[in-house]
Order: sequence, then C-alpha cells, then structure tokens
Amino acid sequence: MAELVAKKNAGTFSEEKNKGKYLNYINGEWVESSSGKFVPVFNPANGEVLGEVTQSTEEDVNRAVKAAKVAQKSWRLVPAPERAEFLYKVAGLLKDRKEQIARVLTSEMGKVIDEARGEVQEAIDMAFYMAGEGRRLFGDTVPSELRNKFAMSVRVPIGIAGLITPWNFPIAIASWKSLPALVAGNAVVWKPATETPAVAQEFVRIYEEAGLPKGLINLVHGSGSVVGNAMVDHPDIDLISFTGSNEVGKQINERAGALLKRTSLEMGGKNAVTVLEDADLDLAVDGILWSAFGTSGQRCTATSRIIVHDKVKEALERKLVDRIGELTLGNGLDETVKVGPVINRSALKQIDEYVQIGKDEGAKLLAGGYIVTENGLDRGNFYAPTIFTNVTSDMRIAKEEIFGPVVSIISVSSLEEAIKVNNDVEFGLSSAIFTADVNRAFQAMRDLDTGIVYVNAGTTGAEIHLPFGGTKGTGNGHRDSGEASLDVYTEWKSIYVDYSGKLQRAQIDNY
Ligand code: NAP
Ligand code: MG
Repeated sequence: MAELVAKKNAGTFSEEKNKGKYLNYINGEWVESSSGKFVPVFNPANGEVLGEVTQSTEEDVNRAVKAAKVAQKSWRLVPAPERAEFLYKVAGLLKDRKEQIARVLTSEMGKVIDEARGEVQEAIDMAFYMAGEGRRLFGDTVPSELRNKFAMSVRVPIGIAGLITPWNFPIAIASWKSLPALVAGNAVVWKPATETPAVAQEFVRIYEEAGLPKGLINLVHGSGSVVGNAMVDHPDIDLISFTGSNEVGKQINERAGALLKRTSLEMGGKNAVTVLEDADLDLAVDGILWSAFGTSGQRCTATSRIIVHDKVKEALERKLVDRIGELTLGNGLDETVKVGPVINRSALKQIDEYVQIGKDEGAKLLAGGYIVTENGLDRGNFYAPTIFTNVTSDMRIAKEEIFGPVVSIISVSSLEEAIKVNNDVEFGLSSAIFTADVNRAFQAMRDLDTGIVYVNAGTTGAEIHLPFGGTKGTGNGHRDSGEASLDVYTEWKSIYVDYSGKLQRAQIDNY
C-alpha cells in the first residue's frame, strides 16, 4: 500500500522523455508545445548546451488556462490548512533536494554555488512560511456599529494567477509568487525566463511529487512576446505577477490596464550604499564587494552606486582597489570562485557598452572595465568587476540600471546630500547606509526613498517574511514575499451578518 501511494505521488515526469528537453507541464502532464519548436539553453560559464526548451504558442497558454480554471473550482473549496499540507510537502522536498537544485541553478544561470544554495534556501523558507499561512490568512473581525450585527473581512482567492519571472532568481522569485497564490486558493500558470527552464522544471516536479492536484500549477515555456503577451491578454487569467525589466513591466501594465486586470510588478533598481565619514570602512568594503559583485551584479538589489563622504573617499577607494583582486572569476560550481559569468553574450556586450559610456562621460576607471578572456573564460560570459569614481548624479552610469558588475562612486559632503543623491533616480528598490551614529541612521531610515533599507549592511539580503519591493519606477505598489504578498493573490470580502431580525440602517438608525 505504502508503495502504491509513493508511486502515485511520483508524478508523470519521465527521465527518458525529458532528457535534454524542457517541456511544458499542463494539467498534470509533461508535454511538448503545439509549435514543436525548441531553442537551446546554454551554460553561461562555458557556452555548453545544456538542453533545449519547448517554445509555446497561444494555444498552449489556452490549454493551461483551461486546466487551471477547472482545477481552481474545487481548490478554492479545499480548506486552507489542507491546501497548506501540500506546501509543507513542497518545503520538505525542496530541503531534501537543496544541493541538487543549487547545482542545476549554477549550471544554468551562472551564480556561484554558495549563492545558489542560498537561493534554494529562500524557496524553502518561503514554502514553510506560506504553509503556515494556511492556518492564518487573517482577516478582521470588528464590532458592528449596530446591535445584534456581526462584521468581519475574509481573504478570498482571485482565480488564476499568471506568473512571469526572470532568470536571475529563477526559483526564489517563483516561490515568492506561486506559494502564496496556491495557499490562498488560486491556480497558477507560470512562464519562467527562457534562460532558466531547468530550475523551473525542478520546482514544478516538486509540486507534482508533493501530490498537488493536476491543473493547479501549469508551466508554459516560451518567449515573453508570445507566451507572456498571451497570458496578459487572456480573459481568464485574473492577475499577472511579473518580475523583470521596467521596459517589459510597463508594456504589461498597459495591456493589462486596458482589461482592468490586476498586476503586481517588481522591476529594476539603481541601488546605492552610502558611506559616512564615521563608518567602519572595512565593514563597508565587505558590504560593497558582496552587494555590488555577488551574482555578477545581476541582482535587482545589487549595489550600483557608492555615495561616499568626501573625508573618507580616498581611503574607501584604496581599500576597494586593494581587495577587488579577491574576487576570483570562473565557473560557479568551483567552490573557490567568488564571481560567476553574466547571463549571456548580449548582456556582456551591454555591460561593456555602459563602461564605454562611463568613460566617455568623464568618469575615472579605478578597476576592471573589460571582458575577461584569459584561462578559457572566453568560452563563457565573464566581465571584470568594475569600479568607476568621480561619477556625478547626472551621468547615465549613475542613473540607468546596468545589471552587471559595475559600480560608480559619487562623493558628497553631508548626510543630507547623500540622501538627495540616493533618491535622485527613477528607481527605489534598496538602499544602505554605513554609519556609527544612531541619530543619522534613523534620519536615513526615514528619508531614503526605497522599499528596503539596510543599516551597516550592503543593499542585498532580504528575508522572506518581510515585504520585498520598491518605490517609484521599481514597482506599482505591490510586494512579493511576506504577508504583504497575500494582497496580490486575494480579494477582500467584507461580510455583515445582521441577527436582529429587523432592518437596521448603518449610519442612519444609530445616529
Ligand atoms: P525581462 O527581459 O523583463 O524578462 C522578465 C520576464 O518577462 C521573462 O520571463 C521574459 O521572458 C518575460 N517577457 C519579456 N517580454 C515580455 C512581454 N512583452 N510580455 C510579457 N512577458 C515578457 O527581464 P530580465 O532581463 O529577465 O531580468 C532582469 C530585470 O529584472 C532587471 O531589470 C532586474 O532589475 C529585474 N528584476 C527585478 C526584481 C525585483 O524584484 N524588483 C528581481 C529580479 C530581477 P523571456 O526572457 O523568455 O523573453
Ligand atoms: Mg530579457
């Protein structure tokens, strides 16, 4: 009997059928797209072909939505604590497979193995946390203003959540979105980035093995312009939760706006670390190197500006230049490597173009500034960790998201000026300040216009039980992760029960 159950839960994934091929998962089956077309997936560290991913069409999206619609009808009636049992299983399976998934992640996306492990851990944490929500999903009960009347609010699912995710955190971001969507009673149609289908497959296999009823999570691979647009336009997808570039986020919002469809958008950043004259400079350097060059600068929260007080500018520069050599480049599976490749050739080219722009704008190159080709690294996409100084706020390298290992030093002469420079960009995701002065730290916490603020730490390192997201051009007011993410995947329903047996008019009969 036990064996039978195990077999049933093992899902329909076939190692043979899926070998080297990343397929869609629709209505509980692993299937090729209706186009029959595939595109190759590369290891960014060495150019090796890892496999090929199916390229879906609108027809595949329609099939996924159809399955989701049927599945959600009964899922919404499953008690949330029971829905959560599947999430606990997902959490356990993620935990068991942490190392294996981390290795797939590094091979496909490039980040070093330690960071990949951290990213899988983030998904584990999110799964346990959201499973706990199955017994919370709190609403309010409030006293009614009238006698013999009861008033409360409850969260109800919206229906079908369309998730569109980027390659830089292929499992963490997918976990931030799919887990709250499911625990709240929605079904999911997910389009991952074309660059990272293997991690998506690992994650969906875990949902499958956890026994999640078919149709509740559907994976549809393909390009943003075909699959993404079809999802945004589909009348039965009730909301779109997107993380990616501003350019695409804006397009999605326009299309979805015409249909009055809810969107949750998490987009770019231009995050700064401020270093005041009383800061522990060695600690600041630790924070900067980790936040600016970890994941090769391809985190939405990566430090791309350093705002430093005049009095310590030279000392900070010296320490940064002294230590930048610690950042050994290479294949992230090598435990000694500190910085992996960037995602693809076109990203490499774009980063190099920004470095040229910085030079043309008159910024001074302190370190890096070139594509790395020695020791066989030319087969991958490696950019040298790069530091510019004498940068001013009006330069393009100080304003635009580069999404690579490039950081710009801007000097200021006061905290007030630092805050002004920090806020003088179109984005508002993350910011950090190094100072020993508690008064100035609190002033910064109040005045830095970002969704996330760090004191005496770099700009990265969010924990899953607080809201993640940003102000201004970074987002549209919603948040991923934390309890706040439930607001994306639920509607509020306010319920009044009048047990007085007579008509009672609010605001009228009681005044
Ligand atoms: P991207 O080009 O915007 O792609 C993100 C996702 O959108 C991918 O799945 C992509 O599919 C899809 N897409 C592309 N065009 C689309 C369209 N017209 N309609 C619907 N979907 C479409 O971003 P990226 O280059 O992958 O990721 C880097 C960006 O993400 C950076 O700007 C970074 O700051 C941002 N990011 C933000 C956060 C945050 O939480 N704030 C976190 C991580 C990353 P294909 O790739 O298959 O075309
Ligand atoms: Mg893209």
